[in-house]
Parts: sequence; C-alpha cells; structure tokens
Amino acid sequence: VNYRRAQYMKSAPTLAQCPKDSGAEVAFAGRSNAGKSSAINRLTENGKMAKTSKTPGRTQLINFFSVDAADAMRIVDLPGYGFAKVPIKVKQEWERNLEYYLQHRQSLRGLVLLMDIRHPLTEFDTTMLTWAHAAGMPVRILLTKTDKLKRGPAQAALLQVRKALQPYGGLVSAQLFSAPRGDGLDELREQLDIWLTT
Ligand code: GDP
Repeated sequence: VNYRRAQYMKSAPTLAQCPKDSGAEVAFAGRSNAGKSSAINRLTENGKMAKTSKTPGRTQLINFFSVDAADAMRIVDLPGYGFAKVPIKVKQEWERNLEYYLQHRQSLRGLVLLMDIRHPLTEFDTTMLTWAHAAGMPVRILLTKTDKLKRGPAQAALLQVRKALQPYGGLVSAQLFSAPRGDGLDELREQLDIWLTT
C-alpha cells in the first residue's frame, strides 16, 4: 500500500456519520500529545495530513483518510483522549462511542495505539486494550518519541511493555517509533499492509 497517496476523505462528529462500513480500515488512537498526528504525517509523508494543533474541549472529530482510489482502504484518526479539561460527560460519551466503534465497525481490521515511551500504559491505554481485546481486535502499540531515550533504555522499555502485554495474548504487539527519525516506520507499514490487504 502506498501511504503517500493518502487523501483526506471526511471528518465525522459521530459514528453515525462515518463513511460506509465496507472495505478495510485501521484506526489510530492514543492520549493527546502521544504523537498520533506526527505518526500519521510521517506515514503518509504529508506534514499536513493530520492536524498537530489541538484545543482541549473542542468538538472531537473522527478523521478519515483514503489510501486508494476507491476509498476501500482507510486510515482513521480517532480523537485523542486524556484531556483533563474536557467535561466528564463529553469524555464518557466519547468513551462509549469508542467502545462501540471497536466492537461494531465491520471494516476495522486493527488498532494502532500510540503511547509516549516515557509513560506507557496509562489507565486509559489499558482500558482501550481491554475493549480491543474484548472485541477480538488486533492492536499494534507504538512506543513513540523513541528518539528521546538512548538505545538501551528504549529497548528496556519495549521489553517491559511486551511483558505487561502477555495477558492479552497474540493479538497485541508493540514496537518502537520515532516520527522525526523514522524508526519503526517500515515495521508499522508492514503491519498496516497486512491489516488492509489480507
Ligand atoms: P497528538 O496529540 O497525539 O497528535 O501528538 P502530536 O503528533 O501533535 O505530537 C505532540 C508533540 O510531540 C509535538 O510537539 C510533536 O512534535 C512531538 N512529537 C511527536 N512525535 C514525536 C517523536 O517521535 N519524537 C519527538 N522527539 N517528538 C515527537
């Protein structure tokens, strides 16, 4: 799959307004500031694909990008979670939406879950994993900002996360990622290719 061909499709304020549930899609999720926009921009080699500026509390949109002419292969940018300033009601509603999306979206093949390597597996990350696991949804965890650590500590963090993931079985995997350096980009592309084309 040529991710450089990605094109913005649409933004949906609710799941009801998502594109038709056919073909295949992969969704990107993570705490705000984990590096989700940077990862999508690096993957598509388009610095403006996903917006990196965020205003807490603003309407949260699900953004769809198409990577083929027929819109049959899509990348989905889910709203970042973990903003302290978002009202609890909005937060709860979004969490319900997310859980619903993971369980009912037929075209969803896998979830890319981004975590800052310096503080992985926060409470909501774990909730996401539990939902994905309950839905039988494969997950690839990206430990982002790997460039902020030296090689040894980065590898140690990866091993520790992999160990913590053992209870989830084979559906959840983890890798290192750095948007500026491009570490882990090929590994990520391989996983996405498998999800989108098989
Ligand atoms: P999002 O809220 O998850 O979409 O996060 P962004 O992609 O907007 O990134 C949040 C901040 O982290 C920005 O200042 C980015 O430049 C920075 N950032 C994202 N990914 C990396 C990375 O791999 N390495 C470094 N050093 N900084 C990163």
